[in-house]
Amino acid sequence: MLIKAKDKITKSYDSIIIGSGLAGMTAANKLAKNGRSVLLLEAHNKLGGFATWFYRANKKHVFDISLHGFPFGMKKTCRKYWNKEIADHIVQLKDVRFINPQYNIQSTFTREDFTEKLVDDFKIEANQVNSFYDFVEGMNFFDDQEMTNAELFEKFFPGRNDIVRFLMEPIVYANGSTLDDPAITYGIVFSNFMKKGVYTFKGGTDHLIKMMQDELLANNVDIKKHTKIDKIIIENGRAIGVEVKGSPVYGKSILSNANIRSTIFNMVGEEHFSVDYLERAKAIRLNSSSCQVYMGLKQGEEIEYIGDLVFTSTYPTFDTTALLAMDITSRTFSIYYPEGRPQDTSKKYAIVSSTNANWDDWANLSDEEYENEKAKMIEETILALEKLIPDVREKIDFIDAATPMTIKKFTHHERGSSFGTKFEGLDISMNLHKELEGVFHAGSVGIIMSGWLGAANYGVIQANEIDSYIYNLEKEQI
Ligand SMILES: Cc1cc2nc3c(=O)[nH]c(=O)nc-3n(C[C@H](O)[C@H](O)[C@H](O)COP(=O)(O)OP(=O)(O)OC[C@H]3O[C@@H](n4cnc5c(N)ncnc54)[C@H](O)[C@@H]3O)c2cc1C
Repeated sequence: MLIKAKDKITKSYDSIIIGSGLAGMTAANKLAKNGRSVLLLEAHNKLGGFATWFYRANKKHVFDISLHGFPFGMKKTCRKYWNKEIADHIVQLKDVRFINPQYNIQSTFTREDFTEKLVDDFKIEANQVNSFYDFVEGMNFFDDQEMTNAELFEKFFPGRNDIVRFLMEPIVYANGSTLDDPAITYGIVFSNFMKKGVYTFKGGTDHLIKMMQDELLANNVDIKKHTKIDKIIIENGRAIGVEVKGSPVYGKSILSNANIRSTIFNMVGEEHFSVDYLERAKAIRLNSSSCQVYMGLKQGEEIEYIGDLVFTSTYPTFDTTALLAMDITSRTFSIYYPEGRPQDTSKKYAIVSSTNANWDDWANLSDEEYENEKAKMIEETILALEKLIPDVREKIDFIDAATPMTIKKFTHHERGSSFGTKFEGLDISMNLHKELEGVFHAGSVGIIMSGWLGAANYGVIQANEIDSYIYNLEKEQI
């Protein structure tokens, strides 16, 4: 049931889920399919979290925020934990391009194609390339946490900054990782993509989230939007519910899909945790943020096919600091052709430029400086795009930009973090329910559990934990 914003909730639930990102929604659906009663609470006026979209100019334009590409595994996850119809909308992006001073390459983003490029264009022995792939594919979470990304690349391709850029830059965009992060975070995500390439959801994010909402309602999940939760209620060392606009709503288990730090420090409160856990939680570093520029083309205007995802940079070498800098030199353009939204009869094109960004660069500007920086980013993005599509400026009908401040405003993530936390966040998130009975966390953490696939799969993992927690609780009460 869709509960109206003004309506009071009187029922109690097996599980209350705070936040409807892909982790929260997938956990809700899994628990409901298992026969659990579930309440899904979302602060925003729509479900999806970062898996979102917005309309402009009376719905003349629609823009996807995070539908740039995910691994094939999402199809299996959707088939298993959502439904076949959702899974069937997942299709491959055929053409990923890389244009920078070190190379200009077109690829399907698969192991076969990348191997060919590494051998033919970068002149690496095939055996060496295969050893690299075998190594990253064989990495496992429990044994391989010491090596950094920098060490991984130096081991297989010593001194080859161009190869590091080729292998790493797209993953930096996908999860904000750096050369200092554990190589396991790179290995898992890169291998996932390399299995079968990059995929998208045909129909757009609005269509996906509508289908997911319908499925949740069909499985009897109660959903309430416009409902920000500030407090998880703890009694005798156990979660018993949440406070909704000052009134308690009771649940046997609570799953937070909000940021792990806000969950611990704001919603629960330090007094409920051990000193050791708190110290480790305080040390969690948030991941970086993002900027985007959204461009909608005039009705009837067309552009030639230039690829689906175009990674561009004017920076001479690969440098993760430069990728985040306010003086933007690297952008990923996602080109949304009309075929991607077959239900939209207007047949319009949209282009979204994405850039990784630092919160601090944007957070301390005066209003005037902020507006000026946004205007500069928009103008420089058009200039960069004109190199790919020379007459694009005249074709643009609508243009706007988002910054780390926009992300914070809409998702409540501290410092506008786009990809959750650095690696250390994973341990804290996974062990939350062992520290405090009945409180669980799922959502972008630890780099690995971020992105559409990572978040959705993490929702399933935590739904299983919740299911056995409720089972044991019920056994205790018999
Ligand atoms: C610009 C950008 C581009 C991206 N591109 C891609 C991409 O191409 N491919 C990909 O796989 N991933 C991409 N990602 C990452 C991906 O979108 C996210 O990792 C994933 O969607 C996060 O899901 P989540 O479950 O962690 O929850 P989130 O999406 O973070 O959602 C959390 C939800 O909880 C709600 N919430 C928070 N606090 C409260 C509260 N107190 N009370 C109630 N509700 C609350 C929020 O409103 C939000 O709806 C991108 C991210 C960004 C920012």
